[in-house]
Amino acid sequence: MPWHEKHSFRDCPWCGLTNTKLTVSTFNTQFEDKDGNPRNWATLGCPSCGGAVLIEHSGPHDPGLSAFTVVPTGIDDAVTVRHLPEDVERYYTDALRVLRVGVPDAAAVQLRRTLEAAAAHFEIRERVLMKSIEKLIADGHVTQSFAPVLHHIRVVGNVGAHASDERVDHDTAQGALRFTTQLLRNLFEVPGELRALTAIVPQQQSETAT
Ligand SMILES: [Zn+2]
Repeated sequence: MPWHEKHSFRDCPWCGLTNTKLTVSTFNTQFEDKDGNPRNWATLGCPSCGGAVLIEHSGPHDPGLSAFTVVPTGIDDAVTVRHLPEDVERYYTDALRVLRVGVPDAAAVQLRRTLEAAAAHFEIRERVLMKSIEKLIADGHVTQSFAPVLHHIRVVGNVGAHASDERVDHDTAQGALRFTTQLLRNLFEVPGELRALTAIVPQQQSETAT
């Protein structure tokens, strides 16, 4: 369908801000494909994070309801982790949800629970979160490359226990989230994918082995 102002009301696919009105920059940009068929695009921007969003729509005089394409599609790819144990996934999903609605303090608490639950799957239950993560590294469950960026979860380990705790701002929570996503991939996704790979024997290998 042609461009309509209502299409600017959507969730931001970059930062996850919900029920917002994206700022419309242009709505009549047209490109032709190699056969000369026009494609129409609107360019929008998120008032919170400044991310740009492209929306494809049909021509201005088209009464039809052609499908819309929105680029990027969403923030899910950036934070998706496969092979997560159920309890870890629950805390992780909660963290993503509260961060999207703009409550970084609550996200930090859920990220701490996520990391604690993840460490517990490796029988590590230190009283201080940082110690648990250091032990995951020392025991070789995750690579040494996590050590220099451990400070991203320092605030996560402290938050939520007392009213006097320091507040967590959005950027700090985002940093902790990015650290957590990579740690979970290293702990669960990579081993899970490798387990799945061992079940597959390449044709070539089985032939040369005989
Ligand atoms: Zn945004």
